[in-house]
Amino acid sequence: MNEKTDKQIKDEFTLRRMRQRISYFIYLFLILVIFLIRGNSNLAWAFIGVYVIYSLMYLVYFHWNWRCPSCNNHLDGFFNKKSGVNPFFHSKIVHCPYCEKLLR
Ligand SMILES: [Zn+2]
Repeated sequence: MNEKTDKQIKDEFTLRRMRQRISYFIYLFLILVIFLIRGNSNLAWAFIGVYVIYSLMYLVYFHWNWRCPSCNNHLDGFFNKKSGVNPFFHSKIVHCPYCEKLLR
């Protein structure tokens, strides 16, 4: 088995966190678009459809992407205060809660 170096783990974690943030900003952007076009009901409903589909894709993506690069365990939910695992605003995670590898 090919062990990753500490630098590879950190680089991959940074990449995963960036991808997670980008997908989250797209999510917020869709909400903003729906808000801005709410006067045009046909268009707004179309975007609500896009939003629902994107939300489902986002959940799948979150489950797939937000993992430890070393042990591949999922790094838990949005509001896990205990381990500080949050891909968005309070990303205080330093160690993987499962394998204790330094992530950044
Ligand atoms: Zn791990």
